[in-house]
Amino acid sequence: MERAILHCDLNNFYASVECIKNSEYKNVPLAVTGNPKKRTGIILAKNTLAKEKGVKTGEVIWKAKQLCPDLVCVSPDFEEYAKYSDLVKKIYLKYTDFVEPFGIDECWLDITKSQKLFGSPYQIAEKIKEEVKKTTGLTISIGVSFSKMFAKLGSKLAKNDEINVITKNDYKEKIWHLPVEKLIYVGRKRLVELKKMNINTIGELAKANKSIMEQHYGISGEYLIQIANGTEPDEVANFNNLRTIKSIGNGTTSIIDIQTFEQAKQLIYFLSEMVAKRLREKGFKSLCIHFTVKDNTLTHFSHSKTFENPTNNAQEIAKHSLELFNKTWSFSKQKTLIRAIRISCSSLISDKDNYQTNLFIDTKKEEKYSKADKTIDIIKNKYGDSKIKRALLLNATHINSETSDNDDFFEEI
Ligand SMILES: [Mg+2]
Repeated sequence: MERAILHCDLNNFYASVECIKNSEYKNVPLAVTGNPKKRTGIILAKNTLAKEKGVKTGEVIWKAKQLCPDLVCVSPDFEEYAKYSDLVKKIYLKYTDFVEPFGIDECWLDITKSQKLFGSPYQIAEKIKEEVKKTTGLTISIGVSFSKMFAKLGSKLAKNDEINVITKNDYKEKIWHLPVEKLIYVGRKRLVELKKMNINTIGELAKANKSIMEQHYGISGEYLIQIANGTEPDEVANFNNLRTIKSIGNGTTSIIDIQTFEQAKQLIYFLSEMVAKRLREKGFKSLCIHFTVKDNTLTHFSHSKTFENPTNNAQEIAKHSLELFNKTWSFSKQKTLIRAIRISCSSLISDKDNYQTNLFIDTKKEEKYSKADKTIDIIKNKYGDSKIKRALLLNATHINSETSDNDDFFEEI
């Protein structure tokens, strides 16, 4: 039996949820932004009215307001988005167990074996689309095809609230003329290399020479050719075997009570590095940090913040954490001393999720950080965590790495 795979993508997800929460927003151009009060906050999502006025995701607020002066900006409400995302997944699961989330607003569904019960792939897509709309008020674009990547491409090419079917008979005609960067595995760097090889369209990639591709990309060379042909071996995961990690955190109790800002800063950097490394190992970037201080009377103080630029970089996490620390603690005012500090990152998105991460500004600085991170990871994995240290941590005798603990929260589904 030919595989039938759906890729369901919720339309303008963050902005659509905001419009459901507050129906007045339906009639105004609306953007969900990093920090609505700051002119430099970034547009994370927008509704159709804002889109029509030319507002673009990833743009800074002041630029968007030049195009659309009456743009209403609201901060993201990740808890609410997660709630809607779960509601929609429950509907998908009525049709198949093979539901694999990709970011908060996208899922693949393998419905090959669901056809006897629910009809043709197109009919199933239609049923799902209508049920999601009726139950939640959200609309979806659905791609229907015989491979995961073609299904994903299908939803990308579909308009809002539309279904796009790509079959074995028409994929060459429908897909092969498209620019190769439409494929999610073709990022900016790969695109430059492919263009050098004179591969500009998906069709050209499909017909590329396997051994030349392997010389350039190793085993991914063949994989790239496969995705352009819809023959990649990837399967849709069974939802019951997935465990969604909600947050990744590290905390530690200091060997001595912390009395100075310098000591606290060292501990914050130490923890940020651990959290960042674990985020990278698990393939996540975070959009929210929760920061907790425990004093020597065992009282907890905490603050959290969300930010627009998802990160798994220690320097960035430390920067946000220091900001939260200054909100949480003042050495001159507090009468107690600090016993322990914990940093936890949540609102996790996949770092492989080009679609999601492309929404955000990708600066040179970030690329530089990420290169440094990768090198540090290689050294630490090869020679042990203690072999490479920030200069800042060289005299940090109050930190006992043995007592550090992980506190990932899992959501069992
Ligand atoms: Mg979407």
